[in-house]
Amino acid sequence: MQLQQNPAGDQPTAQPGVLEVITGPMFSGKSEELIRRLKRARIARQRVACYKPDIDLRYHRTAIASHSEQTHEAVVVTPNSDRLREALFFSGQVDQVEVVGLDEVQFFDDGIQPLAMELVALGKRVILAGLDTTFANEPFGPVPALMALADKVTKLNAVCMTCGAPAIHTQRLGTSKELVMVGAAGMYEARCRQHFQPYVEAPAAEQMELSAVIA
Ligand code: ADP
Ligand code: MG
Repeated sequence: MQLQQNPAGDQPTAQPGVLEVITGPMFSGKSEELIRRLKRARIARQRVACYKPDIDLRYHRTAIASHSEQTHEAVVVTPNSDRLREALFFSGQVDQVEVVGLDEVQFFDDGIQPLAMELVALGKRVILAGLDTTFANEPFGPVPALMALADKVTKLNAVCMTCGAPAIHTQRLGTSKELVMVGAAGMYEARCRQHFQPYVEAPAAEQMELSAVIA
């Protein structure tokens, strides 16, 4: 972290950092890109802290992982901005890192936005990866606001599983309306605008059946 003299006094203040958002549908390479940036930061001898919500335990409990099996070590936190703040600030970790990475940011509450900006104000490079839309094609949680506030937004495309065109949507293949159904193999695929069909409501009984399977 670079320090500069505060013009109003003698306390040095941090130069602002940057907020980077990596977004797009499932399978678009968000985690891959986050891992790539974190690995490069480490090559540059920057100290990196990486987090992911405990909701996504598909592959690893102590790492973020891409569908292409790349990994980067990560601390698992409850997807709650207060808990993440505690993990960063009360452990004193925040003073020791220059780069903060977070995967699956869509699962966090709106408090993630002021937290991200606070980290930027402290001079951190903050890299957030997450889905921009749900399978009902609605903006996903805090991600749209974070995209608006970011220094740099990388919106990735996947490959449409129907026709091979660039895909911007996440197609839910089952019938449950549950937003959070992470880890259920074969439940989502990437689709282009032409082949995407937003969720169509299923009978309640079917939804319960599916939720039980996932739980
Ligand atoms: P995300 O975090 O956006 O879900 P990942 O970084 O985990 O994406 O995975 C990206 C990788 O997924 C690609 O490099 C590719 O190997 C694989 N993949 C599987 N299905 C697709 C698809 N439909 N489009 C693009 N990549 C896919
Ligand atoms: Mg991912």
